[in-house]
Amino acid sequence: MSKQLEFGFDPVALKAKYLAERDKRLRADGNAQYLGIDKDGMFGRFLEDPYTPPIVRDPRADDVRIAVLGGGFAGLQTAAKIREAGFSSQDVLMIEKGGDFGGTWYWNRYPGAACDTESYIYLPLLEETQFMPEFKYTKAPEILAHCSRIGRKYDLYSNVLFQTEVNELRWDDARERWTIITNKGDRISAQWVVMASGPLHRPKLLGVPGIDSFKGHSFHTSRWDYEYTGGTSLGNLERLSDKVVAIIGTGATSVQCVPHVGENAKHLYVFQRTPSSIDVRNNRPTDPEWFWSQKPGWQKRRMDNFNILVQGGYQEEDLVGDGWTSIFRMMFDVVKAGRKQGLKTSTLLQMADFKKMEEIRARVDSIVKDPETAEALKPYYNQFCKRPCYHDEYLQTFNRENVTLVDTKGKGVTEITEHGIVANGKEYKVDCIIFATGFETGATFTRRNYCNIFGRGGLSLDEYWKDGMRSLHGIWMRNFPNFAIIQNSQAGASVNFPHIIQEQVVLIADVLLKNLRANVKTMEVSEAAVDKWVQECLRVAVLRSSFLEECTPGYYNLEGKIDKRVTQNLAYGAGPIAYAELLHKWQEQNAMATDMEFSYLQQKLEGAGVSARL
Ligand code: NDP
Repeated sequence: MSKQLEFGFDPVALKAKYLAERDKRLRADGNAQYLGIDKDGMFGRFLEDPYTPPIVRDPRADDVRIAVLGGGFAGLQTAAKIREAGFSSQDVLMIEKGGDFGGTWYWNRYPGAACDTESYIYLPLLEETQFMPEFKYTKAPEILAHCSRIGRKYDLYSNVLFQTEVNELRWDDARERWTIITNKGDRISAQWVVMASGPLHRPKLLGVPGIDSFKGHSFHTSRWDYEYTGGTSLGNLERLSDKVVAIIGTGATSVQCVPHVGENAKHLYVFQRTPSSIDVRNNRPTDPEWFWSQKPGWQKRRMDNFNILVQGGYQEEDLVGDGWTSIFRMMFDVVKAGRKQGLKTSTLLQMADFKKMEEIRARVDSIVKDPETAEALKPYYNQFCKRPCYHDEYLQTFNRENVTLVDTKGKGVTEITEHGIVANGKEYKVDCIIFATGFETGATFTRRNYCNIFGRGGLSLDEYWKDGMRSLHGIWMRNFPNFAIIQNSQAGASVNFPHIIQEQVVLIADVLLKNLRANVKTMEVSEAAVDKWVQECLRVAVLRSSFLEECTPGYYNLEGKIDKRVTQNLAYGAGPIAYAELLHKWQEQNAMATDMEFSYLQQKLEGAGVSARL
């Protein structure tokens, strides 16, 4: 096979190396190795809002038409769509845990934070807000400011509860409305609830001995402590100049903040369990002439073009033209060339992946001067086993005298002491530990969201999903009427996360508007529609789950523990394009009429206070 295609590597040896690297990292405790952070627990301070002073207000007992939970990209777009359709801001109450809009961009302000897919397709509503991002991959403060811009444009600030966490959602069978109970003592009644809380909501730590014994300073990257480090998310962390700092973790977050800490700390130790793949970023300022000459509808076209290419589809032109699309363009070329030689697509895709990862490994050698460090920074797994990273300063940081990579060869940090960190049997004394250890993903939906959810007859969502998620399109659940979730499981997952959010938001807003116009009191997906979708998800999950089984452990494959329940909870295996097409078809064919069960309000629309335009 290798001879035929002459790629210059040995695929059999590579495959064996990948599996050996995976096996080195597989652990019996899987996801249980991590320590979740509870508000009232010993690391509760890691969850506090460092950016906005506490908001003190009286509890509310509003009665609202639509409640949107979450003020990040998904919540903002949902509320914006509903407002665009003519509803007043009083019809939509937003509830957000942060002190402002922004979601993940409110919390994640670590130095170097920036979007890792192109900003022209990542930032929502650019045409509507007439906003030009400064860079192709724009930086966190601009993304946060854009969230605020959307809030202002759609008048969402006039009906939002900030620093408010929803702890319980309960369907009231008698009143046929949701009761929303929050940490501020609110008891809000809502006819419809859209949950847009994001997938990476609850930070996690490593459950190693001594984690509570460290006497120095520590924080998680999702609540960066600028009081301690100095500087801003653009860098200049001047207060670290006399500090020995440890960063634990080398995922996408760490890759972005390591260069800044390396530049400013007296000494930086980076504790690595598995290296990320780091390709070229090539960030650059936006050309205003090009940007403002785009024709209406350009953003959606660009998003679609990207999504099709990154799904291995064909497009005449590659509009984004970056590292993401290049991977898939290369895969497409390899498959095309190999087909002529009669090779199987799966074999060819694997060959293309090997080729790409060989390039990534060669890039490490070309940048990192110390051969041992370079070797340790080379990832040995298929590229989509973990989030691919793009950066032009990360690998270079390991050439600095004041930066040490502590490669734990797949074992990870094993202990934390009063004064530092133990790895490979050695203690490293540090002043500060920065946990770049990611977020809880494998836990139940309700745990990840710090929110208990009860549907008809008090049925809890955890109980309903105990054998695996059950939904239609990942959005609607039986027994949970008038309720929609915007998320990835059993839905299309794109590397450009906001794209699928947008597809779901358009559908949800359309369904809500139709229901409100038709005077619907309750809408609930039928058992048959849910069954059919779960079966479809399982049918197409096979390829993805067998791919993930061979991957090195991580949050994509639930630390290597793929079972039937996990398979059922995966993103829709036929991919985001098939998923989006399916949603479009569902809307066009008015499948809602057959897949949903309805009950109606007695009073007329006008009497219910919906704006007359509807
Ligand atoms: P990840 O879960 O990706 O990374 C956690 C890191 O902690 C991994 O490197 C993991 O190693 C390491 N780790 C866990 N336990 C130990 C241990 N005992 N010892 C040493 N290391 C350990 O979290 P991130 O916050 O980096 O990223 C989460 C996601 O957020 C990304 O995948 C991406 O989707 C998103 N993101 C997006 C960005 C953007 O758009 N700009 C930027 C940053 C993040 P191992 O790999 O071995 O498990």
